[in-house]
Amino acid sequence: LQKWSDIPLAPPDKILGISEAYVKDTNTKKINLGVGAYRDNDGKPIIFPSVKKAEEILLAKEVEKEYTGITGNKNFQNIVKNFIFNNSNKDANGAKLIEANRIVTSQTISGTGSLRVIADFLNRFYTNKKILVPKPTWANHVAVFKDAGLAPEFYAYYETSKNDLDFDNLKQSLQSQDEGSIILLHACCHNPTGMDLTAQQWDEVLEIIKSKKFFPLVDMAYQGFASGDPFKDIGLIRRLNELVANDELKSYALCQSFAKNMGLYGERTGSISIVTESSDASKAIESQLKKLIRPIYSSPPIHGSKIVETIFNDENSLLPEWLSELDAVVSRLNTVRSKLYENLDKTNYNWDHLLKQRGMFVYTGLSAEQVIRLRNEFSVYATEDGRFSISGINDKNVEYLADAINQVVK
Ligand code: PMP
Repeated sequence: LQKWSDIPLAPPDKILGISEAYVKDTNTKKINLGVGAYRDNDGKPIIFPSVKKAEEILLAKEVEKEYTGITGNKNFQNIVKNFIFNNSNKDANGAKLIEANRIVTSQTISGTGSLRVIADFLNRFYTNKKILVPKPTWANHVAVFKDAGLAPEFYAYYETSKNDLDFDNLKQSLQSQDEGSIILLHACCHNPTGMDLTAQQWDEVLEIIKSKKFFPLVDMAYQGFASGDPFKDIGLIRRLNELVANDELKSYALCQSFAKNMGLYGERTGSISIVTESSDASKAIESQLKKLIRPIYSSPPIHGSKIVETIFNDENSLLPEWLSELDAVVSRLNTVRSKLYENLDKTNYNWDHLLKQRGMFVYTGLSAEQVIRLRNEFSVYATEDGRFSISGINDKNVEYLADAINQVVK
């Protein structure tokens, strides 16, 4: 029998560990660029005003806190389907798939929970366990897939020495794979690089996916953060729907989260959707999802999904309010991105890649040594891969930050 004291100490989470170190730092100029959660120009977390209003409505009218279904409730599922797959009544292919009962949607415990549920599901029912993930990718992808029994393997994505996508190698590394793997695609605002494929590049990758019979698993944690408009950020989904409608692709899956775009981080509100080949397949898949989820957490939390429902059900005021609040959040991120760029010294270092990146992060290209110097000498906290969560930047600290970076790259 193993003694408890024989259990080795696990290393701290790379991203959450940064926040712990930041909290302990007494320097008043300290900056936290670790965790990907939005902060306003005063460095404070926010609740979207539309979300607060939805909560007030719920507080006044809720009379019970009963369990929801194992896969959440139908209203939430339908909202997600229409919002994402039908682009709110603008994607005829998506509309047909919904109509034909070819999309199974389940509410999940945010994006991470949805990744874990689909990974467990694929491990149970999909014969090929290899899942191709971009290099680099969000560190938790690899952990979730491994823990669920899948075998993650990297495909080329980004060339750090050029601070740019490595599209030729990306295609080559996919082409060299055997048929039938699962492939993880970031819908937009690739984490950590902020670099997405163009529509033309997606088409080339989708050709390879078709010829290699890969199963596409899309992760969409930052819908809205590329353009400011969540309806514009789903180009990849529209294209996938088109391929399915033309019978060029049989099926794909989508993990989605309202953590970032509705600021519902701790409410753990997201979904998994599986596009299937028939209504019969959908019925079986839904029943198996229920069978899988029930012994893990039984059913998802209800507060966040009710907020989503309340906002989407009020098309004339809360929905447009939320969309404009989200647009303002993204526009602040774009402003700090350009302010950081303006303040950086470009004599010896090219920072143009910062302006091409989208979303919550800049992928600076700084080395681990430089990031550690930023932490030790300037109390600037970021992960050692050089990813900065830019919502930690504001008018008051952007010059201090740029100056610190200028000193460590000198
Ligand atoms: N996917 C990616 C790429 C992410 O960056 C995140 C959040 N950092 C998630 C999924 C999951 O987020 P959550 O579980 O908070 O919805």
